Amino acid sequence: MNSLKEKKALLKKLEEAYTTCMECGQEYGVYSVGCSSVWTGKCDVCGKESRVTEARDFGYFSKQIRQLKKEIKNEKSNSQTQK
Ligand SMILES: [Zn+2]
Repeated sequence: MNSLKEKKALLKKLEEAYTTCMECGQEYGVYSVGCSSVWTGKCDVCGKESRVTEARDFGYFSKQIRQLKKEIKNEKSNSQTQK
């Protein structure tokens, strides 16, 4: 995940995701509840059929979303100064 386009796509996905598998949740969010309901379904982040839970249980990926927004902003100002 390097390009601005990829970051924007990931940001959108994380913001809109309702379900997440444990893998994506742990990669992009912080597990914030003691116990959550888990069911078999499609992960809104990676798109795979898996054991999923609600994005809410990972704090709605707020940590990663904040990080991505910062990076996107930085890259935009970088490309502006290069002109
Ligand atoms: Zn996933």
